This record gives sequence, C-alpha cells and structure tokens, in this order.
Amino acid sequence: MSAQLQSTTSAQSIPSYLHADDLGPWGNYLRQVDRVAPYLGSSSRWIETLKRPKRILIVDVPIELDNGTVAHFEGYRVQHNVSRGPGKGGVRYHQDVTLSEVMALSAWMSVKNAAVNVPYGGAKGGIRVDPRTLSRGELERVTRRYTSEIGIIIGPNTDIPAPDVNTNEQIMAWMMDTYSMNQGQTATGVVTGKPITLGGSLGRREATGRGVFVVGTEAARRTGLEIKGARIAVQGFGNVGGIAARLFEEAGAKVVAVQDHTGALHKSSGIDTHALLEHVANTGGVGGFKGADPVSNDEFWTIESDILIPAALENQITEKNAAKIKTKIVVEGANGPTTTAADDILHDKGVLVIPDVVANAGGVTVSYFEWVQDFSSFFWTEDEINQRLERVMREAFSAVWQVASDNKVSMRTAAFIVACKRILMAREMRGLYP
Ligand code: NAD
Repeated sequence: MSAQLQSTTSAQSIPSYLHADDLGPWGNYLRQVDRVAPYLGSSSRWIETLKRPKRILIVDVPIELDNGTVAHFEGYRVQHNVSRGPGKGGVRYHQDVTLSEVMALSAWMSVKNAAVNVPYGGAKGGIRVDPRTLSRGELERVTRRYTSEIGIIIGPNTDIPAPDVNTNEQIMAWMMDTYSMNQGQTATGVVTGKPITLGGSLGRREATGRGVFVVGTEAARRTGLEIKGARIAVQGFGNVGGIAARLFEEAGAKVVAVQDHTGALHKSSGIDTHALLEHVANTGGVGGFKGADPVSNDEFWTIESDILIPAALENQITEKNAAKIKTKIVVEGANGPTTTAADDILHDKGVLVIPDVVANAGGVTVSYFEWVQDFSSFFWTEDEINQRLERVMREAFSAVWQVASDNKVSMRTAAFIVACKRILMAREMRGLYP
C-alpha cells in the first residue's frame, strides 16, 4: 500500500469540535472507536471516516410565541455516515441538547444500523428546547420550522428522521406534512414512527421492548439460563422497560425489581406487570404501587436478579453502583446506560452485557419495515412484523456473539467490530464517495 493511500490525518488537521478532550458523548464514542481499531484489519485505514461526521447542519428556529414575543431555538441534524444507505436516526427535543450529543447519537446510529444490518447510515437531530414549556401551537410551529430548515438534507432516500426523547407520532406527522408540502406531494417515507393512519407500522410502538426481550432470551439460552422463573430487574418502566418487562413475565419470568423517576419497588415472588402498567398509565410512575414493597433507589441496584434491564437514561450504571450489582446478564434497553468504567467492572465480575447498539435496535428495525411498507404502499400484519423483527434481532445477536467468542472480547466491542467493518467495507468499495 502506498504511503499516500494510508490515513494521513494528524491531530492538527482535526477540526476543534471533533476532539475528544472533554468527556462529552462524542468523546466517549471516539474512545469506543479506538477500542475496536486493532480488530478492523485492512479496513482500519478508513477509520478516520468514523471519527468525522459526514455533514453537520446547525439551524436557527425562530418562532413567534403565543404571548407575541419572538424566540430562537438552536436545531441540529447530523449525518454521521451514509456509506450503507440513507441517514437514519431520531430527533430529540431537550433543553440540554448539544452538538456533541447529537454527533455521538448520530454515530451510534451508524453503528446500530450496521450491527443489525439494516441498509441505513447513521444520523440524528435535535432542538435545544424544553418542549414542556411550549403550548401545542408553539410546539407545532417549532417542529414545522425546524423541518423546513433541515429539509435541504432530509428525504425518503437521503435521511429519514424518527421519534426520540420528547418527540412522538404527532411530531412525526407534522414533520411529514411540512416536508411533503414543501415538495408539493405527500412523501410518507420521509419519517418513521408516524401514526398508523399516516403510513405508520403496526408493532412499531412495542418494537424496542420486544427486541430487548428477544436478545435477552437469546443471551439466556446461550448461557444456560432458564427464562421460566428467571428474576428480572428493570430500570425505567416506559415504552421500552414496561413492554420488555411484560413480555418477560408472559414468558414465565418474574419481575422482581423496578425503578423509575418516581421510586423503586421489590417483590421476590414477582410483580404483576399488567397491574403496574395500569398504575403507571394512571399516575405517571411506579411510585405508590401497592403490589410490591417500596425500596430506595440505591437498594434497587443491589437486588439480586438474573437479567437487569436499564431502560431509562444514559450513565445509570457507573463506577459507584457497578460493583454492587448482582446479576448475570445486563440487556441495555436505554442508549448509553453504562459508563466505560462500569463496563469494565461488570466484565471483570463475569456479567454478560448485551450492548445498546444491539439490544435496543428493535425500534429502528421496525422503522425500516415502516419505510419499506411506505414505499410499496402495502402494509404487513403485526404477526409478520414481529416474526421479521425476531429474525433480524436473532441474526444480529448471533453474528456479534460469534465475533465476541472468536476474538475473546466483550459483546460491545464485538458489535462495534461487526458494524465498523460493514461500514468501512461499504466505504472502500464505493470509492471516492459518499
Ligand atoms: P419513556 O419516556 O417511555 O420511558 C422512560 C422511563 O425512564 C420512564 O419510566 C421514566 O420514569 C424513567 N426515568 C426517567 N428519568 C429517570 C431517572 N432519573 N431515574 C430512573 N428512571 C427514570 O422512554 P423510552 O422510549 O422507554 O426510552 C427509554 C430509553 O430507551 C432511552 O434511553 C431511549 O433513548 C432508549 N431507546 C428508546 C427507543 C424507543 O423506540 N422508544 C429505541 C431505542 C432506544
């Protein structure tokens, strides 16, 4: 290989906003890429591609508030990599959204989409806004204006947004409508996670929790753990955690501990998840549920379980609680729930961690099914969707498991190896672009 063909990037030529100097999410992502670099073989000469988003768009979103004043919000859309297909990833509305966070989330989407082998690159968007402070009309205006601003880079064949934290089916409907009207024709495939009546897919709402259940049972099977009677602990009892817990209970497992922002519960004989879901729907959280004993948040992490599912926020399993955790398998429903230091502690204790980029990929997998159905205007039954989802998740798990045992590395490193090789091979075979 000629010297010119090798990566010639020096630290000085890296734009300042791409440095890993701070411990922000982008810095964490860069460290994860560095960990897999030795396993990438000849593809590693393209590794700098993974360390630089392809395209970053920062937009101003000015709207008139209901009280007549004008407010400006900062919005982002980052396309990390599109070598394997159009960009794909959610849009987050949160007061703490930063460019570093959106960049990292876009990169993790590249890895997730490649790990489960759906034909997408990675992208992510966000607006720095607390949506709880906006009226419905203000929220609609913010959404529509943001969509118009990022309309120059999104599209059914270029980059397909979806819901993320604080965005939902209604926001996807407004995004689809705005993009469509700017194009002069309805383009349902520009976003996924839409309402069923507007080209949404059956099974999408349950898909992430179902995927967590599928990979959890697969991990149990491979390690000789019987699901019937297995003890499950779940942090976060929302869309992901609540559905995963219900499916495990239906398969004969016992949900022995649950925690969310309103409290933590314990019941060694198993919590009735249907009753708890109803309680959460009525009260907004698990706190105050009468069918289990209340425990402190610290105690929650010490309760013995066979499978622990963090399905709330980032950075929940840290150096502080990792050593106290008594479980066999961690299935990451949330994005980034385990810090790198905690990952190493769990690994040393012999805990099997199924990483987020595989464990919570059920959502994007059914988003892919939604996009395919929109293109053909032919919609599948829920059974067909669930069967196909299960197949994709099992195949992804199996490929990552194989690489982990071949290389004697963690499932997280293995998932990154599988995904980064797929991305960089596509990059190499395409040549000069994209
Ligand atoms: P959700 O809003 O439905 O539920 C979030 C849950 O987390 C709630 O039970 C809430 O009480 C709990 N929570 C919030 N703050 C907490 C705190 N400080 N301590 C303990 N619990 C707290 O959200 P969701 O869709 O279930 O998403 C959960 C996680 O899964 C997020 O990290 C999200 O990025 C990730 N994820 C979701 C999907 C999806 O399709 N919904 C897909 C991939 C990844």
